[in-house]
Amino acid sequence: MNPLQFVRPNILALAPYSTARDEFKGGDIKVFIDANESPFHTGFNRYPDPRHRLLKQRIAETKGVDPDMVFTGGAGSDEAIDLVYRIFCEPGVDNVIAMSPTYGVYSVAAAINNVEYREVPPAKDLLFPVEAALNAADSHSKVIWVCTPNNPTGLSVQPREIIHLAENFNGIIAVDEAYIDFSPFGSVLPFIASHPNIIVLQTFSKAWGLAGLRIGMAFSDPRISSLFANVKYPYNINAPTQREILRQLDSRDIAPQISMIKAERTRMAEALPGFPCVRRVIPSDANFLLAEVDDADRLYDFLAERGVLVRNRTRIPHCRGMLRFTVGTPAENSRVLAALADYCEETGTYPPDTVPQYAGPDDKTPLHSPRKAAVTRHTAETDIEVIIDLDGDPAASYIDTGLKFFDHMLSQLPHHGGFALDIVCRGDLDVDEHHTMEDVAIALGDAIREALGDKRGIERYGFVLPMDESRAMVLIDLGGRIDFRWDVELDREYVGDTPTEMYSHFFQSLASSLRANIYISARGENCHHIIEGVFKATARALRMAVSRERFPYNLPSSKGIL
Ligand SMILES: *Cc1c(COP(=O)(O)O)cnc(C)c1O
Repeated sequence: MNPLQFVRPNILALAPYSTARDEFKGGDIKVFIDANESPFHTGFNRYPDPRHRLLKQRIAETKGVDPDMVFTGGAGSDEAIDLVYRIFCEPGVDNVIAMSPTYGVYSVAAAINNVEYREVPPAKDLLFPVEAALNAADSHSKVIWVCTPNNPTGLSVQPREIIHLAENFNGIIAVDEAYIDFSPFGSVLPFIASHPNIIVLQTFSKAWGLAGLRIGMAFSDPRISSLFANVKYPYNINAPTQREILRQLDSRDIAPQISMIKAERTRMAEALPGFPCVRRVIPSDANFLLAEVDDADRLYDFLAERGVLVRNRTRIPHCRGMLRFTVGTPAENSRVLAALADYCEETGTYPPDTVPQYAGPDDKTPLHSPRKAAVTRHTAETDIEVIIDLDGDPAASYIDTGLKFFDHMLSQLPHHGGFALDIVCRGDLDVDEHHTMEDVAIALGDAIREALGDKRGIERYGFVLPMDESRAMVLIDLGGRIDFRWDVELDREYVGDTPTEMYSHFFQSLASSLRANIYISARGENCHHIIEGVFKATARALRMAVSRERFPYNLPSSKGIL
C-alpha cells in the first residue's frame, strides 16, 4: 500500500523551501556568508541544522528504526499533530475520526485547519471503540486518531486493535504514544514497515521529563517522513535544544524513574478508592490516574487550597465527576493522600485506616503486579507482538501468524493453559515458514518469562502424563536451566501449511528463550493429532508451572533464586 495516496495534492506537489544550510554540502569553509547571519559570536549567531541530522540519527538508534523514518518537531508532538492535518486533510472537505474522551489538541488542531472532527463515544468501560471508529468513516475520512495509553483515561488500545484499524481503514492511523513508556504494551513502531499507513507520535515531554524543551517525534514510512520535513518550518528546533536532547540521550537512563512512577501508580490506585469521596479509579497504563469522585469541583477547589493542583475533567464528555491525578514523587503523592484525609474531615467522612506506603522503585511486589507482558520483536525477517496475561481470560486471545495450522496449534496454549495470549506476526512467509515459527517461539518464551517477573510464588514444575487421544507427555521446569528433549515421531513432511520438522525447532527455541527444561514425547496415528496433543499437553504443563502456589514459601527453590 502506498500511503502517498492519502496526501493532499498541493503537499505532494510542494517544492519545499531550501535553506542556505540545506544547500551547503560540507567542506572546509572558513567564512560563512551564505545565510545573512551576524558574524559576531553570541553563542547563538549561527542557524541550527534545519534537518536535525544528529538528533534523528541518535533517536533512530535508540528506537531501532531507520533515520529516514524520523521526524523531530519543535513544539512537542503538538507540532506533529498539526502537520498530520496539513499533510493529509483538505480544509473544508476531509474529516478525521477520534474517540471521546481523548487528548484535546486533536480537535483544536482540526478546528484551526478547518477539518471536520468526528467524535465517537467510547466503548464499554471507556475503551477505544474500534468498530464504531471504522463505521464512522466515509470516503473523506483521512485520519483516525488513536491515543494509547489514552489521555485522560490511561487505558491502552492494544497493538492488535491498532493493526486491525490499519488493515480496515483506507487512510492514516495516527497513534499517539505520549505515555507508551509507562505501558505494559509495546510501541507499534515495528508495524510501520508492514502497515505504512501507521504514523506513531512520541514525545520527550513525559517519561523523559523534558516538557520544557518542546521536542516531539513522529515515526512513519520514509515517504511520509519526507513530507513532514517539507511542510515543517525550516529551523523548527533551536540549536541549544538539539544539543541538550543529544546530551540527555547520551547521559541518562530513565528506566529507574519509570519504574518508580509505575510503583507509585500502583500505590495511588490502591490508596485512592479507600477514601469515601472516591467512587472509582480507572486502571491506568500511563503516569496518571483518572478518578471519579463525589463532587469534582468541590474536591478540586479543596485540593488547590492545600496547594495540590489536579486536572478537573468533569466538564468533558464521558468524564463527569472525574479528576485526573498525575503520579508524582512518593513524597508528593503522600501529600495528596494527606490532603484527601483532610477532605474527609471537612466532609464528615472517615479516611481509610491505612494507606499503602512508598515501597521503593526496585520493589517488585509480584503478587500485586499484574502478570502481564508485552514483547515486540522486530528483525529483518519478522515483526512480532506477543502479549500475555497469565491471569487473563483465554477467550480474549487473538493469534494471527499468517500460518493457519500454526495458529490453530498456538491457540491451544491459551485455551488449555488458562491464560490470555495475543500473537501477531508478519513474517517472510514468501521465503519459508522457518523465521515465523522460530521467532514466535522466542518472543513467546520472552513474554512468559517477563510476565513471571522474579517468579516469586509460582509452582515452577508442570507435567502432563499421557493424554488419551494423542499420547503426549510434557514436562516443564521453569527453574532457569535450559534443556530440551524431543521424542516425537512424525511421519509426514507437512501438516497443514507447516513443515513438521519445525515443531521440534519451535519447542527448542521456546525452551531457550523461556529458560526452561522442556521434555516432550508423543506417539499417535496421525501427525495433526500428535502435534495438537503436544501443544495441549504443553499448555496444561505450563498452566501448572506458572500458577501461583497456595503455600506461603516464597521462591520455589532451596537456593533462593530461580
Ligand atoms: C502530553 C501529551 C502529548 C505531548 O505533548 P508535547 O507537545 O510533546 O509536550 C501528546 N499527546 C498526548 C496525548 C499528551 O497527553
